[in-house]
Amino acid sequence: MNEPDYQLETLAVRAGIERSQFNEHSEALYLTSSFVFKNAAEAAARFSGQTPGNIYARFTNPTVTAFQERLAVLEGAESCVATSSGMSAILATVMGLLSAGDHIVSSRSLFGATVQLFGNIMKRFGIETTFVSQTDVAAWRAAVQPNTKLLFAETPSNPLTEICDIAALSQVAKQAGALLAVDNCFCTPILQRPLDLGADLVIHSATKYLDGQGRVLGGAVLGRKEVIDPVFTFLRTAGPTMSAFNAWIFLKGLETLSLRMEAHSRSALELALWLEQQPQVERVYYPGLPSHPQYALAKQQQKTGGGIVAFEVKGGKDAAWRVVDATRMISITANLGDTKTTLTHPATTTHCRITPEQRAAAGIGDGLLRVGVGLEAVSDIQADLARGLR
Ligand SMILES: *Cc1c(COP(=O)(O)O)cnc(C)c1O
Repeated sequence: MNEPDYQLETLAVRAGIERSQFNEHSEALYLTSSFVFKNAAEAAARFSGQTPGNIYARFTNPTVTAFQERLAVLEGAESCVATSSGMSAILATVMGLLSAGDHIVSSRSLFGATVQLFGNIMKRFGIETTFVSQTDVAAWRAAVQPNTKLLFAETPSNPLTEICDIAALSQVAKQAGALLAVDNCFCTPILQRPLDLGADLVIHSATKYLDGQGRVLGGAVLGRKEVIDPVFTFLRTAGPTMSAFNAWIFLKGLETLSLRMEAHSRSALELALWLEQQPQVERVYYPGLPSHPQYALAKQQQKTGGGIVAFEVKGGKDAAWRVVDATRMISITANLGDTKTTLTHPATTTHCRITPEQRAAAGIGDGLLRVGVGLEAVSDIQADLARGLR
């Protein structure tokens, strides 16, 4: 399945299959932690790297390899490593590619745990991060230092769906001699391919849309082989590798990804347009709305607006909590990218551990709600939100 002229939809269903002696049609799940060798010489050759092949599942497993190959094809990447979660994908990227004394320039509109990882944990190991505005390319350029090794962005961002200009940031990275990593969790390769736009690394929380049904955790890092190899070396040594079972779930998830992303996007746009009409709603954040500040850039960079809609309710936290508590169907949960619609109050959940000043700087108001639009009928999602808004 290496023919480059297959469409993405086809590759999502068929890439990465290597059938066993049984010629199974659906992808096999290899639940084994280690692999046996014919003799001592074969074991020695595998361990020394003289011959390729599986040794131990902390390093490689055929089901995980199949997932890595399929996702690599979809992202247009030379190489992919799968990880135990999205956060361990980000951790492995930093641990594999940076050292004490290095510097990161990062968007400040990041997933909350990523802010913690860069701002607190990596700082203890001598890696400093400067947080800048997601949308201000000049600010990224100004924040670059001689020791800057990594630029890190997430687009659209969580929860405000701010768009960063991947091509422009890749120019900043090139001039700085640094790598640009893009967390492509919200779009998936179906809607956006950051490597085509000049990014060096793509990061995934597979937990979200790649699974698509809220079952298991996983992540991935993709890019050129020379960039991914040190990330893999960290993973096989330190151990936050993806389990074979989870890889099998993600392989099957990828097969329906393009259909789901189209449906999520269609419903999200309909919901966003409806929310804009509600008098109790101050503002709606959705990249597919003409009112979005980066609508033109989003149109150029992404196929559709994606499945995440955020909106600010008039009346702050109390009003936002009333909307949450009045729902009967929508799941009150921090996850997203699920067939089931999810609802989060970022200020008191995903972003509660950052200071109120950091929250204000990131634009996370007390009345803000984030909807991960699922695959239920949009009219039912609207009715569930309308109750609390009334
Ligand atoms: C969820 C998420 C992560 C972290 O992924 P986990 O699988 O929960 O570790 C990283 N980035 C974004 C944008 C996310 O939504």
